[in-house]
Amino acid sequence: MSDTPKSTPTKPKRFSTVEQWDMETDVAIMGFGGAGSCAAIEASDAGADVIIFEVTAASGGSTALSSAEVYMGGNGGTAVQKACGYDDSTEDMFNFLMAAMGELADEDKIRMYCENSVEHFDWLVSMGAKYKNSEYKERAIMAVTDDCLLFTGNEKSYPFREIAKPCPRGHNLEVEGDNGGPMLMGILTEQVGKRPIRVEYNARALTLIADDDGAIQGIVVRIDNEERNVRARKGVILCAGGFVMNQEMLKKYVPQVSIGNIPIGNPGDTGAGILMGQGAGGAVIHMNEAFITLPFYPPGSLTFGIFVNAQAQRFINEDIYHARMAHHILKQSGQGIYLILNHDDYEHPPFLGAEVAGTGETIEELAEDVGLDADMLRHTIEFYNQHAANGEDPLFHKHEAWLKPIEPPYAALDCTPGSGVFYPYFTFGGLDTLPTGEVLTMEREVIPGLYAAGRTACGVPRTSAGYGSGMSVGDATFFGRVAGKAAAARNG
Ligand SMILES: Cc1cc2nc3c(=O)[nH]c(=O)nc-3n(C[C@H](O)[C@H](O)[C@H](O)COP(=O)(O)OP(=O)(O)OC[C@H]3O[C@@H](n4cnc5c(N)ncnc54)[C@H](O)[C@@H]3O)c2cc1C
Repeated sequence: MSDTPKSTPTKPKRFSTVEQWDMETDVAIMGFGGAGSCAAIEASDAGADVIIFEVTAASGGSTALSSAEVYMGGNGGTAVQKACGYDDSTEDMFNFLMAAMGELADEDKIRMYCENSVEHFDWLVSMGAKYKNSEYKERAIMAVTDDCLLFTGNEKSYPFREIAKPCPRGHNLEVEGDNGGPMLMGILTEQVGKRPIRVEYNARALTLIADDDGAIQGIVVRIDNEERNVRARKGVILCAGGFVMNQEMLKKYVPQVSIGNIPIGNPGDTGAGILMGQGAGGAVIHMNEAFITLPFYPPGSLTFGIFVNAQAQRFINEDIYHARMAHHILKQSGQGIYLILNHDDYEHPPFLGAEVAGTGETIEELAEDVGLDADMLRHTIEFYNQHAANGEDPLFHKHEAWLKPIEPPYAALDCTPGSGVFYPYFTFGGLDTLPTGEVLTMEREVIPGLYAAGRTACGVPRTSAGYGSGMSVGDATFFGRVAGKAAAARNG
């Protein structure tokens, strides 16, 4: 039997052609990951009938694959921030996120996210999420102990530390190892199970059902190889993740990620939700933006090193978040990115997979080994060392905590994109939505009955230049909840 669906995502089914409804509900949700589960819980708690359609045989999505770090703070601090001695202000969090997202920032979403972030923490705790009142003080990507709080972005680095008072906002669940994702999705799935929410697994959402005015009236799903028409009286919420597994869309929108070597996400990240929204008249924004990163720490000691390009020149302060580093690496000309270190600070990073490009007792030996211009490398290292000895970095303002002269013997790690070093990526672009999750047309008019959240929408995180760990699961769970409430409140 052919597996080809009769419906295509970009061609909504016409309401007037529906002969029978196979299922009826108030709110239909596409995808049972972070955003979908939170949307379902809130819609159900607001009194709506809810059905979730999940293409795989289980809940989870990329959220279950993640560390489930969640970026939260402001409002005087979450219970964990307070217990760890941080008094985080909403304005600091807001100013930081606005600066981090730069010209791409969605002020309304960031404002709503910051003002309600402690409430979101409390809600996650009320769902059963456990956070220990402790801080993980290493420079790390996630806490591999059961500690909770850590700096996960660029808060302490220039220029951000001058824009907003730095505060750690990454919250890890109380679990040993990198196991937050399965734990968070286990908790949310259990909460869905406690409510009168119907879940259809092995159910692929195919396309939307729209009336002649463009309002969304339902969704077509394929179950047991049959297309079923689902009436959604109040609305459909698209929570199907991003498009990192769709080669055609990647080539079309974010060709620069081809320098990355590992798409991170689940096989369902095919962009189906985005395409369905587009088919119904939804606009997409920032489709050319992706999280692409070079996870060069831990260990934190590598931050004492300097990154140089093919011209043997530094280009950024090395105390930044790893995705901001990758963002700036992509802007360099020529082939060659190297992390140059004093031999004593060298400890092989666990995630990076970078080869040692060269070593040397002198700068000339190192330059020859690596293939860099020796005079320029000498100039770069000597200039850096001269100021680092005084706790200064006049070029890029690396924090003095990470400044010390780089002395021989030297080592250089090959971080050149394409050399085999680890550059994972996932997508940020998606449907243009209001903070409520309502999907907007090109004219920024609301499409009645259509909502999106998580990576199907373009949310708070929009650029690697300012991303911090926790912003994606934070955004997906927070705005999933908001969309669930908004859809349930709609008079369909
Ligand atoms: C290894 C890894 C680590 C990460 N760590 C972090 C972290 O610590 N903190 C952070 O903030 N971000 C992290 N991220 C990113 C983050 O996990 C995701 O961006 C976020 O969880 C996406 O949530 P979502 O709800 O949008 O999508 P998902 O959780 O992926 O859910 C989408 C669901 O939709 C389903 N679906 C897709 N198509 C269909 C269809 N046609 N019909 C029905 N169902 C469909 C999928 O099967 C899936 O279950 C990480 C990502 C990865 C891969």
